[in-house]
Amino acid sequence: MSDIINLTLSALIDKIKNKELSSQEITKAYIARAEKSKDLNTYITTDFENAIEKAKKFDEKGNFDYKLPGVPLAVKDLFCTNNLKTTAGSKILSNFIPSYESTVTQHLWDEGAILLGKLNCDEFAMGSSNETSFFGNVESPVGKKVVPGGSSGGSASALAAKLTPATIGTDTGGSIRQPASFTGTVGLKPTYGSCSRYGIVAFASSLDQAGPMTQDVSDAALMLDVISKYDTKDSTSVNFKRGDYFKSLSSNIKGKKIGIPKEYRVDGMPKEIESLWQDGITLLKKLGAKIIDISLPHTKYALPAYYIVAPAEASSNLARYDGVKYGYRSEGENLISMYENTRSEGFGDEVKRRIMIGTYVLSSGYYDAYYLKAQKIRRLIKNDFDEAYKSVDAILTPSTPSSAFKIGDKTDDPVSMYLNDIFTVPVNLSGLPAISIPAGKDKNNYPLGLQLIGKAFEEQNLLDISYSMEKELSFKNNLQDWWIK
Ligand code: GLN
Repeated sequence: MSDIINLTLSALIDKIKNKELSSQEITKAYIARAEKSKDLNTYITTDFENAIEKAKKFDEKGNFDYKLPGVPLAVKDLFCTNNLKTTAGSKILSNFIPSYESTVTQHLWDEGAILLGKLNCDEFAMGSSNETSFFGNVESPVGKKVVPGGSSGGSASALAAKLTPATIGTDTGGSIRQPASFTGTVGLKPTYGSCSRYGIVAFASSLDQAGPMTQDVSDAALMLDVISKYDTKDSTSVNFKRGDYFKSLSSNIKGKKIGIPKEYRVDGMPKEIESLWQDGITLLKKLGAKIIDISLPHTKYALPAYYIVAPAEASSNLARYDGVKYGYRSEGENLISMYENTRSEGFGDEVKRRIMIGTYVLSSGYYDAYYLKAQKIRRLIKNDFDEAYKSVDAILTPSTPSSAFKIGDKTDDPVSMYLNDIFTVPVNLSGLPAISIPAGKDKNNYPLGLQLIGKAFEEQNLLDISYSMEKELSFKNNLQDWWIK
């Protein structure tokens, strides 16, 4: 059994195709491990009995030509799953059972994957440590009482702890890449419009994007092949010619031009992050890439702009939770007090904070000063990238300004929590693709990630560069399984 859970997704698929392993054996191995790993609090909802049933059916008459034949997968609880509770980590959706399936999860099942259950996340994907979930915080397998990052913290923790061979998360300001960086896993945020947002609980619609979280880069390419498709159900889905990402993977990056943005050398950045970045630069040179210093002058405005735009969109998106149409309802003397009670009991503190900020910056009198200004800054940030991409093919930065921190360390200081996203949010504001790959460790042995940012719709380029780096880095998490009961 320990052999099964140690296989990468693509190795697992080979074994299924060669009939060396059955879907049932694999599914049971992951379930058995999840049962012993409850202390990590990765799952909000499990669907184990159904998973075994489906695995049995797959073994009897499944299609082995599928891309994910009989592979069990757990996914972030932000993806609506037909007939299975979908909470978005919130009390207000704690009893919500969708009658439809998100497009990206449907793609997984259409390629033969089997749902294991729904993974914990920050409430409405707002957070960087998975501490805002109504269902409790998630622990990272990399260290006791350490956060897995957020908001896809349950996904990252489950993946690193080998409770699922791969998973998918969502990234509005860094929620795939930052937890990947904290847990020594690979996280890819595709170009905005690459993966359908249909059926994903909305946080900030102009920024949200689903993407793979995997053990290595080739698994990310494989998952992207499955989930990136044009979808008429999402008006922002883009009908571009997608690559055959997995098959086309190449580690030849000779002559590629990689930009190093000087504005990402932020004050107070730990030495270990500096040297991680420097080592990444050295490695890329060794692999034949050309390193070019670039400038992204508006970088320092990205975080403040994000924390205006994202709450503004959130306040509008979350207006639908009124106790009438979805989920939790509290009683009240009249309609208005029913709304008030439902929303004050149903939402947690961080979500309320964002709704208030969002409502404020959209209100008449403040709209021009805040929201409109933030949108203008957003354009300038995008222009910086456009300018840079005239001379480079991709950009290398650290994924996060620090390694994982302890649970509780930043909960009283939202601004220091928001600073986690300093290297990831410019990417969402510009709609670009970016990947975080594990590249080193800090003094506590906690993983550190490097981020590669690409041109829009050029995921293949990003995958190729990170694939070639990964080979040389040969990162190993070497977790001690201390959480197993
Ligand atoms: N940490 C960021 C936030 O709290 C990003 C969240 C996300 O990408 N979903 O908004």
